[in-house]
Amino acid sequence: MLKFECTLCGKCCDAGGPEVTIEEAMRFADLFPLSVRIVAARKGKNPDELIKHVKTFGHRLRAGPPGVTPYIYHVYGTIMVTVPEGLACPALKDKPCSLHPDKPLACSTAPFAGGVPQRLQQAAYKRWADWECIDHKDGEMIFDGKKITNTGYLRHYKQTYNAIKLDQKLFAAFWPQIPKDVLPDILEMATTQHSLLPFAEMLPILRDSGRYDDVTLKRLITSQNRLLEGLAQKVPDEPVRGPIHWHMQLALKRWQAQL
Ligand code: SF4
Ligand code: SF4
Repeated sequence: MLKFECTLCGKCCDAGGPEVTIEEAMRFADLFPLSVRIVAARKGKNPDELIKHVKTFGHRLRAGPPGVTPYIYHVYGTIMVTVPEGLACPALKDKPCSLHPDKPLACSTAPFAGGVPQRLQQAAYKRWADWECIDHKDGEMIFDGKKITNTGYLRHYKQTYNAIKLDQKLFAAFWPQIPKDVLPDILEMATTQHSLLPFAEMLPILRDSGRYDDVTLKRLITSQNRLLEGLAQKVPDEPVRGPIHWHMQLALKRWQAQL
């Protein structure tokens, strides 16, 4: 059972950016620095129920490279808006969100997660406890413990689910293209947490998909290059600040190589 009230306070937006669909990534490329988020679900490591669910997104069993991870059941991708730790979502210029009500699907679906089955939502929405909007005294009952009962949230959840499912075709095509120099680290990390790769790595897949013309892709490269350069200036070079800093440097290098 979940009671929920969103007051558009923006606290969850202070904690970084949302996940977006590929279509949203292209639409908001001038605003959001973007990464590919890879989650690998492995039998024996992740709950069977989760593995069953993620397989419905159309991925098959894939073997990891020798000596790393023998069997990966599923590799699931999303696009993350990526900002260094401590920075808010770039759309939070004022409160509420500057994109509201046309914000990304994941934000309209919150506190539910579009990539998680309805019966497992309790685990997904618990992170909202930090922001005090779940079990809010004025909140409306929107989840009965097994399914979403509010029609508005259910509609957003289904839209998000369908968009994620559509995107998985491109992520499935991307999987064999993940650069060999980073693949072992991704597989090792991704069974327990997600890994991030620069969105630039997906350019050949986006091109081959026929969904985007060269002008749109060129705009994407130019926008991401500009955004990442701006962010890199905000992050001091020394000491190196962990994976996000590394990720931004790699992203910049790879986007610049496309220009
Ligand atoms: S979901 Fe919660 S934290 Fe986020 S804007 Fe709404 S009330 Fe605030
Ligand atoms: S897009 Fe808007 S609602 Fe979503 S995290 Fe950013 S500021 Fe918040």
